[in-house]
Amino acid sequence: MTIITRFPPSPTGFMHIGTARTALFNWLYAKRNKGKMLFRIEDTDRARYTPEAVDAIINGLKWLELDWDGDIISQYERAPRHIEIAHELVKMGKAYYCYCTPEELDAMRIEAKAAGRPTMYDRRWRDRSPSEAPEGLKAVIRIKAPLTGESIVYDRVQGEVKIDAEQLDDFIILRSDGVPTYMLAVVVDDHDMGVTHVIRGDDHLNNTFRQNVIYESMGWTIPTYAHLPLILGPDGTKLSKRHGATSVEEYRDMGYLPEAMRNYLLRLGWGHGDDEIIDTEQAIEWFNLEGIGQSAARFDFEKLNFVNAHYIKLADNARLAGLTVAILKKSGIDATPRAISMMTERMDELKSRAKTLVQLAEDARIFLLGESYDFDEKSLKQLDEFGKKVLLVLHDNFKTMENFTAEEIEKLCKGTADYMADGKLGKIMMPLRAALTGRTTSPSLTHALETLGKDIVLSRIQFAFKQAM
Ligand code: GLU
Repeated sequence: MTIITRFPPSPTGFMHIGTARTALFNWLYAKRNKGKMLFRIEDTDRARYTPEAVDAIINGLKWLELDWDGDIISQYERAPRHIEIAHELVKMGKAYYCYCTPEELDAMRIEAKAAGRPTMYDRRWRDRSPSEAPEGLKAVIRIKAPLTGESIVYDRVQGEVKIDAEQLDDFIILRSDGVPTYMLAVVVDDHDMGVTHVIRGDDHLNNTFRQNVIYESMGWTIPTYAHLPLILGPDGTKLSKRHGATSVEEYRDMGYLPEAMRNYLLRLGWGHGDDEIIDTEQAIEWFNLEGIGQSAARFDFEKLNFVNAHYIKLADNARLAGLTVAILKKSGIDATPRAISMMTERMDELKSRAKTLVQLAEDARIFLLGESYDFDEKSLKQLDEFGKKVLLVLHDNFKTMENFTAEEIEKLCKGTADYMADGKLGKIMMPLRAALTGRTTSPSLTHALETLGKDIVLSRIQFAFKQAM
């Protein structure tokens, strides 16, 4: 049997981190078993539908480097098939027309409540003949849910989950305006797509009991279910904006690498002993449903940074250079080819210090800046009277240096510190760093200076000097 999983997001406008994890688990399970992951957009909510929202999901998957098999399927476009099944269920005696008006349903609920009975639909049309149908009213189609016994979901994560059949109502599968309900659409699509494994968030577990009623009524094979516990924020409440970024795009923009994100999301709810660093190749080899935890996972930003730093160190220098240039371009820094090659030369050091690409880009500024650049407030503070004096002295000394090497530069700075700042090297380096970067952090300054070369260093000092006045 070929294992077929599916990724069926609703296009909400962005890709939530929980949705990304669901995609990853389905993808890994398919890859692990040499199966397929199909991709369906659940785009039936036309009021909310926009092509941009669909693109956000597609771009999220692409950024995460998760591919899918076959064409993207639109649930909306499959409505005729959903409708066909609704009518087939009626013909089979498994579903029926219900002609209740909203007012009638309200009255029924109020009455049930007053009598202390459950307020769900009381099945008044279940056994009535459609010949009794009031004229001019459009019916909904409701499924006949079992009246007695237990309804059981065998879940590969949660185990056996049971509810009494009494808790199930004869829910609507086709609305009176002819629009199929979500419950029906999902089952028909999963069946037609040959889905064998449904791996999704446990917020859908309740739907599963209902969906199984449809499977059973049609005599279709129920897929294997694995419902993933929620993702919580660090404080144990449901992950939300309050905790920080919740969408995949935000993580991309904060400078996380896709492979780091995959590793981190994998560990968010799935485990293999104490292993934290699990690259994708290894994950494909190991991934199974047994490793999914039963309790909700907490998002841990520090761990994500740790994992990201690991993958940044492993990443190819030219790739990192490209990503860094793109980040700095957004802040108006257009790097020249020469500047890019200087940065690439120092990439081993740059990447050893960075937890995110944004941090790396901040450090790489020193190589990529052009003739004019901005100074942040902290760096301007370094360019006070004393700072300017330091710059003047260094400028004159650098100018006469013959070997502009890190070693010689360091010697010179130490000498300057001795006579200007009681040997405190930091007092000399801070204004120099501020002058060269417009910031107060940088990678090893002396090595960076050597890479930049004397001309650039001198002209930056001159530029900074003017900004300070
Ligand atoms: N469209 C649903 C969602 O985005 C997923 C439904 C499912 O997995 O069955 O939550």
